[in-house]
Amino acid sequence: MAEYRNPLEHMNVVITGHVDHGKSTVIGRLMADTGSLPDGKLEQVKASCARNSKPFEYAFLLDALKDEQSQGITIDSARVFFKTPKRHYIIIDAPGHIEFLKNMVTGAARAEAAFLCIDADEGVQENSRRHGYLLSMLGIKQMCVLVNKMDLVNYDRKVYNSVVRKYTRFLKSIDMHGVEFIPVSGMEGDNIAALSDRMPWWTGHTVLTLIDTFRKEEAPDALPFRMPVQDVYKFTAMGDSRRIVAGTVSTGTLKDGDEVVFYPSGKKSRVASIEQFSGDPPDTVTSGRATGFTLSEQIYTKRGDLVARAGDPPPQTGNVMRVNLFWLGREPFVKDREYILKTGTERVRMQLFDTLKVIDASNLNSDGMKKMVERHDVADCVLSTKRSIAFDLVEDFPQTSRFVIVDGFEIAGGGIIREVIRDNQAAYRDRVMDRNLKWDTGIIPRESRTESYGHSPGLVLVGGPEDRRKAAFAKEIEKALFQEGHKVYYLGVQNVVAGLDADMTVKRHQVYPEDREEMIRRLAELANILLDAGIILVATVSELNFDEQETFRMSVAPQMVRTVWVGRTEGSDVDADYTIENIEDAPEHLDVVVKILKKKGIAV
Ligand code: GDP
Repeated sequence: MAEYRNPLEHMNVVITGHVDHGKSTVIGRLMADTGSLPDGKLEQVKASCARNSKPFEYAFLLDALKDEQSQGITIDSARVFFKTPKRHYIIIDAPGHIEFLKNMVTGAARAEAAFLCIDADEGVQENSRRHGYLLSMLGIKQMCVLVNKMDLVNYDRKVYNSVVRKYTRFLKSIDMHGVEFIPVSGMEGDNIAALSDRMPWWTGHTVLTLIDTFRKEEAPDALPFRMPVQDVYKFTAMGDSRRIVAGTVSTGTLKDGDEVVFYPSGKKSRVASIEQFSGDPPDTVTSGRATGFTLSEQIYTKRGDLVARAGDPPPQTGNVMRVNLFWLGREPFVKDREYILKTGTERVRMQLFDTLKVIDASNLNSDGMKKMVERHDVADCVLSTKRSIAFDLVEDFPQTSRFVIVDGFEIAGGGIIREVIRDNQAAYRDRVMDRNLKWDTGIIPRESRTESYGHSPGLVLVGGPEDRRKAAFAKEIEKALFQEGHKVYYLGVQNVVAGLDADMTVKRHQVYPEDREEMIRRLAELANILLDAGIILVATVSELNFDEQETFRMSVAPQMVRTVWVGRTEGSDVDADYTIENIEDAPEHLDVVVKILKKKGIAV
């Protein structure tokens, strides 16, 4: 894109407003009056209007530009380029809330400032409020309201003042201050690129002079480093075990040799080299750049992880979070239904855990008792994700605090993360992170072990109600894998209870409930050591529950743990990869279980 080669700074500005309040007309006019249109465009559109005997509208200019942009590709929002002596601007006209949210969250077009159009004649509408709320929620602090169509109200100062008063009251109620207003007519070009003599009472800014007063946000390069992992590529050359970790830097910079930490696991490594697909690889990458780097010590990382630099403030991790969200789905957002949460490159199943406050964004009436979030509501609520993820809080780094919620195949809402709620896994998660940060590896990389053993390590949890036949089945799994030449080890829970846990209160080979959490933690730590040694561990845990399953996943890595449930399922909240309800039938399921484990990444 030629625009970026110019050393002038650039800024993304979004324009929103109730439909028909004049966004496209204002942009068209601004482009035309500043000579920013491609050569001949204005004449071409005017001629086409004349041919079709339809009156010329400035809004058509934008349509014509959009058509050009969308040839062959679908675009979420039109962007027009425009420059002043001070900066290059990209004006983003998002056709609706969803496109706007999506752009803000995926980073396709992050706006630093916004224009909002309000029709002077129609006055403040529901969407004028909703858009204002959305902008403030997404952290866009700089905003200018264009009170448009002043020609329709005879350029009356009183009408303008009344819109300003009414909308300012609304902005105040959402804690948005310092918003500018300008009376304009997109159609007639008043106060767009030049002050209008039809409104001598207005001596403030024009749209053109105001846009240059928007301040640039702090350069994201100066912020701590964050990069959501987009993908991990393997070198295909023979014998080369390196992987390239690829993604787009959201903030900060990264250099060769930097120590990096991958969240939520907290596993660390060092940047061995920054790679480039063509040209000379740079030794530093900066925000906004798509990049890839190799690591000096291979660790397991996957799409969705968030990379930070060791020593920088770390991101948050957790699976319960307090958020502000805006709901746009046709179906309301309810508890007991599963959705997908997307933040950065992460995608995780989630549920609405609780609603603290639900607000109708058009009038700000709040309902503390409402337990579902309906279309166009804004909510202060708590979400829980199926597993722990990494993110930032809006007050720290807005970019990596934004998310969208997908219902079925559609984006149905979005918002910002405000707080991590300490769940019952939080303390352990911190310990695991600390352990990973301090982990001292030998000289043999994990990959070499995998290569030498012919398979990757993994943990197979065999859970279910207490029953000896469960252990017998787990031993059969061990045997089947062993016979195929795998390094596999069966570990019955009582082996640990009598040894590692000998300090605990034990009754009939079982630890007391108050010690159970610690027993699971130790077992999970032991599993981590054995997996690090490259082994496939098959362990039985009677009455395994979801929280405990989380402990194991957290201790090793979620994708290295598979669960087989043997026995009745009532009362169990375990997320099993395979279930055998009738324990007598277990032996018949052995082949299928082994096949499924392999399909799901164990012993491959
Ligand atoms: P958008 O949906 O917000 O992009 O609105 P448009 O720019 O397409 O404008 C909607 C309608 O309002 C069009 O028919 C425009 O001609 C008309 N319009 C836009 N700005 C003005 C204005 O300043 N004065 C008058 N009288 N009409 C306007």
